[in-house]
Amino acid sequence: MRIELDGRVLEQVADPLAGRSSAGLAHQQSLVAERLRQPPRLRGLAGSVDSFDRHEQAGHRSEATIARHMKAVVTGGAGFIGSNLVDALLERGDEVVIVDNLTTGKRENVEQALANGARLVEADIRDGQALRDLFEEVRPGVVFHFAAQIDVRRSVADTPLDAMINVVGTINVLEAALAVGARVVNSSTGGAIYGEGKIIPAPEDHPAEPEAPYGQSKFAAEGYLELYRRLHGLSTVSLRYGNVYGPRQDPLGEAGVIAIFCGKLIDGTKPKVFGDGKQTRDYVFVGDVVAANLAAGDSQATGSFNIGTGKQTSVLDLVEALRAHADGDFEPEMAPERPGEVQHIALDYTRAREELGFEPKVGLDEGLEITLESVRKR
Ligand code: NAD
Repeated sequence: MRIELDGRVLEQVADPLAGRSSAGLAHQQSLVAERLRQPPRLRGLAGSVDSFDRHEQAGHRSEATIARHMKAVVTGGAGFIGSNLVDALLERGDEVVIVDNLTTGKRENVEQALANGARLVEADIRDGQALRDLFEEVRPGVVFHFAAQIDVRRSVADTPLDAMINVVGTINVLEAALAVGARVVNSSTGGAIYGEGKIIPAPEDHPAEPEAPYGQSKFAAEGYLELYRRLHGLSTVSLRYGNVYGPRQDPLGEAGVIAIFCGKLIDGTKPKVFGDGKQTRDYVFVGDVVAANLAAGDSQATGSFNIGTGKQTSVLDLVEALRAHADGDFEPEMAPERPGEVQHIALDYTRAREELGFEPKVGLDEGLEITLESVRKR
């Protein structure tokens, strides 16, 4: 069955769903029903963050601007990536409930979103009953799952805690989603799952050789998404990000070298570079990751998708690119190599391009400029 609204084909329901189980079907039907109930909106709410205004100019609005209204739960929605997605969902007219225990997330990240109609529920994803009660009440069509223990060193120091949050917490999210037939879009990681790049850029079937419990717990969580799809017919997908950077990443945190270097540049202090600085990563702008989430939420794609740029950038390349924005010197302070650090990785996003229409739009120079500007305003 093809359903058209304002000349757009919304879904092809009958044939592709033949043989699917009730949870997947329920998601598909509620998606179509919700969209048909709502009048078209051409423009979202006022007050979006600068990054998204910039991002729109960079070409990321089109489908997302077109009318829709979904109920979305965003776990970890007060964090760096999650809060940027929350703003984009509100902007296109969706109803958003954020679930976050505010460990690394910040209320200030969602203040504007709350003013724009989002709701924040302070809860821990380890509390399965709290999630089930909330999902029964909200009955979301889609769940974007960002909440996680993301500190690699902590995952080594307290591996059971890392697994409790990243594996059991994810299972709790899947259980709650299953009860209401919501689609689940999971935030996963490319580099931390693949380990040292044997093929660069690495495709999704690159060997999984995590170098830390964090990568292992994220990989295990992906396995449960696949299992819930096979066993229960739940609609699930995992997005494996490269190194995400952009507005709201913590410049004082342990992760996120770009945010840290931006902070150093503004303070006039030296960026610390470990080893020879030639280690490469795939740096992907947060607006592109948000676009990938929107596309994944709207699709029926399943499995795992790399979300990156396919390009390797070294730590010294970053210093060099940022130097152009420094008033004075911006010379690195060299420090001994950190043992066990991955040397080279980048992600092949061909599958995401083909199945989700994903294409990274913000190049490193533009992304660095936007990020610097946002750190300056803090
Ligand atoms: P973040 O720390 O800013 O966001 C995580 C959010 O989850 C925070 O708001 C935190 O308060 C919340 N949270 C943590 N534990 C929770 C719990 N037990 N219950 C409820 N909420 C909890 O990190 P981020 O960089 O925005 O990462 C978001 C997701 O993307 C994570 O799943 C992470 O593994 C994944 N990811 C991030 C990157 C990156 O480069 N930032 C790369 C690959 C994957």
